Amino acid sequence: MDRLGLDPGEFVAVDEEGRVASGIDPDEVLAVPTLAVVGRPNVGKSTLVNRMLGRREAVVQDVPGVTRDRVVYDGLWNGRRFKLMDTGGWEPDAAGLQGFVAQQAETAMRSADAVLLVVDASVGATTTDQAVARVLRRADIPVLLCATKVDDDRLTADTAELWKLGLGEPIPVSGLHGRGSGDLLDAILDVLPETPRETFGPGGEGPRRVALVGKPNVGKSSLLNKLSGEQRSVVHDVAGTTVDPVDSLVELDGHTYRFVDTAGLRKRVKMASGMEYYASLRTSAAIDAAEVALVLIDASEPIAEQDQRVLSMVAESGRALVILFNKWDLVDEERRYQMTRELERDLISVRWAERVNVSALTGRSVQRVGPALERALESWDTRIPTGRLNQWLSDLVAATPPPVRGGKQPKIMFATQAATRPPTFVLFTSGFLEAGYRRFVERKLREEFGFAGSPIRLSVRVREKRPRKK
Ligand code: GDP
Repeated sequence: MDRLGLDPGEFVAVDEEGRVASGIDPDEVLAVPTLAVVGRPNVGKSTLVNRMLGRREAVVQDVPGVTRDRVVYDGLWNGRRFKLMDTGGWEPDAAGLQGFVAQQAETAMRSADAVLLVVDASVGATTTDQAVARVLRRADIPVLLCATKVDDDRLTADTAELWKLGLGEPIPVSGLHGRGSGDLLDAILDVLPETPRETFGPGGEGPRRVALVGKPNVGKSSLLNKLSGEQRSVVHDVAGTTVDPVDSLVELDGHTYRFVDTAGLRKRVKMASGMEYYASLRTSAAIDAAEVALVLIDASEPIAEQDQRVLSMVAESGRALVILFNKWDLVDEERRYQMTRELERDLISVRWAERVNVSALTGRSVQRVGPALERALESWDTRIPTGRLNQWLSDLVAATPPPVRGGKQPKIMFATQAATRPPTFVLFTSGFLEAGYRRFVERKLREEFGFAGSPIRLSVRVREKRPRKK
């Protein structure tokens, strides 16, 4: 049960037709933060982890030589759920231990939301502990230090010595008496964020990745040249990043972007006819590798089915989107008029995307591309706090309740934003919500919170009717 008295296990995911969707990890729904526990073997890590577990779960004893990789448990304290990642898996010989534990710390820093370093107070800070502490001092997530085996007052004094690890105040616990573990959990939950931080794709750092896509001859090569040439700022190297030779680094409006898979565009390799299938594979690979897609459409011609295919690829991939109408220099009054109608007819499903009219030939409005990319990525990254979301939702539902179905009015009990990139919302309800109402909720979400340039995902979990137990 979480703080609202909801048990996510009671809910099932249903799609727009009311079919039960399977294969959904309930933790993905109520995204919970992760605490990684690191430390040398035999410092009392397992005892501690056992005390923190929400439900009883046997933790294998630390048998030397037994390699357990990361093990993740469900933690629960004062009604708050979190994941407990025990980075076990050490080598029995002490020689490699220092590097190994340091490695654990690195892993923890990359994948968790907070780290707990466990040190044996009866032994004091060993060189291994110091090596790990050195790694953890660089962390940009909270790090707590816990001193175990503090079983009498003399040891409490020794605990103070652990300040020298440079990780703040050591929190003493006694595995034997369980003393102090409540305080430790309070301290952990104080620093643990409400929701997990995002780690996107491989790397997750460095310049943001852009896919420049569109049907052949819309002007992709020309635009890439304009964007990079004009500003004389094709960056070849950014400190700490290696650039795949097929990518291009381009600076726009003070931000560097990685345009993925542009080798073909740079070399102006022309696609032979009959190669559409491969062109489409490439397009989808580029979109998958990117965070935001820049879709080029030839404004001088009617919007083609191929344009729509590219747009739906982007929408389905969940990437952010900016639409560029290129060759605007060729657009006259008449064409502009037709275009307005085509937009309403053909681009309705991506009307949340920002559109910029550009000309790769004359350079018209190309300076607007960078800011549009930034806005789309910002929407894509946005997280609405749960409290604010639910406040808004309860007002919405009060004003416009979901339509009655089969004589019953479905209740929406709670909503959460389970993920960003793209923003993904989950509604917990007592009954089926039909597609029309889902679309209404999405439209209102956008009216309230924006999300221009980003797709939004909305899923519904319906409380399962369980047979009443006698
Ligand atoms: P790609 O296949 O998408 O890379 O398209 P290219 O960049 O090779 O451009 C195809 C043709 O359109 C070339 O002849 C370009 O000169 C022309 N072109 C590209 N952008 C513009 C533009 O903004 N205005 C005009 N008039 N022609 C353009």
